[in-house]
Amino acid sequence: MSDCIFCKIIDKELPAKIVYEDEEMIAFYDINPAAKVHVLVIPKKHIPSLIDVAEEDAGIISKIYVVINKIVKDLGLDKSGFRVIMNCGEDGGQVVGHLHFHILGGEHLGTKIVR
Ligand code: 5GP
Ligand code: ZN
Repeated sequence: MSDCIFCKIIDKELPAKIVYEDEEMIAFYDINPAAKVHVLVIPKKHIPSLIDVAEEDAGIISKIYVVINKIVKDLGLDKSGFRVIMNCGEDGGQVVGHLHFHILGGEHLGTKIVR
């Protein structure tokens, strides 16, 4: 997708602080962090949102959790804990139309999911 900022990061047309990359996924620090550690994990396939995930994407989606598991261990978040969030659509607060999982951690995030 030529106008997608995350596809541009995948294609290295835009810079990002990359923490993980393989053939199917890439993860990089969020430009506007909402916690001390804020990483975005995305599939390289341009899937606009959760609502667009198809049966054929099941492998990618399950693998993302394995990648998240690796990243949180690499970043030392596995013992202290962390939160994984996906925003979907307008009411869900999704701004970038390329499927992404937020990893938040590095500090206590509280016990509630708040607005
Ligand atoms: P959403 O609100 O769509 O769930 O999250 C989009 C996230 O992408 C936001 O947290 C925002 O700060 C981040 N973001 C937007 N543009 C860029 C960018 O060019 N580079 C990086 N690293 N993060 C970005
Ligand atoms: Zn994209």
